[in-house]
Amino acid sequence: MKIVETIAETRAFLDAVRAQHRSLGFVPTMGYLHDGHASLIRRARAENDAVAVSIFVNPLQFGANEDLAAYPRDLERDAKLCESEGADIVFAPSVAEMYPSPNPFSIVVGDIGNKLCGRTRPGHFDGVATVVAKLFNIAGPCRAYFGAKDAQQLVVIRRLARAFDFPVEVVGCPIVREADGLAMSSRNVYLEPAEREAALVLKRALDEAAAAVRQGERDGRRIAEDIAARISSEPRARLDYAVCADPETLDDVERVEGAALLAVAAWFGKARLIDNMTVTP
Ligand code: AMP
Repeated sequence: MKIVETIAETRAFLDAVRAQHRSLGFVPTMGYLHDGHASLIRRARAENDAVAVSIFVNPLQFGANEDLAAYPRDLERDAKLCESEGADIVFAPSVAEMYPSPNPFSIVVGDIGNKLCGRTRPGHFDGVATVVAKLFNIAGPCRAYFGAKDAQQLVVIRRLARAFDFPVEVVGCPIVREADGLAMSSRNVYLEPAEREAALVLKRALDEAAAAVRQGERDGRRIAEDIAARISSEPRARLDYAVCADPETLDDVERVEGAALLAVAAWFGKARLIDNMTVTP
């Protein structure tokens, strides 16, 4: 497996893959890899002839008061994981390689980026869309794998690919959880043991809401309120939002008739965690 830091070397490697008529799977990440990332690499491996992983903590998607400096990093360990999962190349650029200009251009995603996480993270999805657009340009034609864990991100990226006609097939992959239900996240390392225990309330609140839908609950606002109340009943949780939303538009759903996205965000200590589940009546 190759580890490269430059855009030019990455392009040359991936162009050579395509010149041999081999298909390419691409897995963009911010590193500090866990089994959620590994599941994307494995899927890419199973569905393509070659696999590229990018590891880049993208400053554009962090707000001024967010955890950019503290974000966990371990390139050596990540590279081992990529190699053992069968990746062919890891692209791990510096910030200067990705953003040579001191005042980089940005993609503006608009309304879809102002909902859910966008309300507390203004500009976050512009930063995500900008780096993913660059990564798609660097990778070239491929299938790109993203986790449903970041549900709004997946919606934004599907729209991005369509909006700019990137020759990329966006593939959404299921959330990978710890045995006790906590969604895997690089940010889980921030959790103190008591916060780690408290964070299980996210999955429990979603499970209870899904059970209510199975039992006939259709009132979207009540579903969202019940999730919010359940999370707020945990003293160590500070709720950001709980929604019952349309999976494509992310608008609140009044009556659950088709698939609905139940999505939550909450702080536990200094970790802001997100989780979601899609329910269909
Ligand atoms: P990140 O490194 O957090 O930017 O995540 C890189 C990719 O891995 C994104 O597509 C995420 O949605 C995906 N991902 C992160 N955590 C999980 C998880 N627990 N299950 C599935 N995919 C995940």
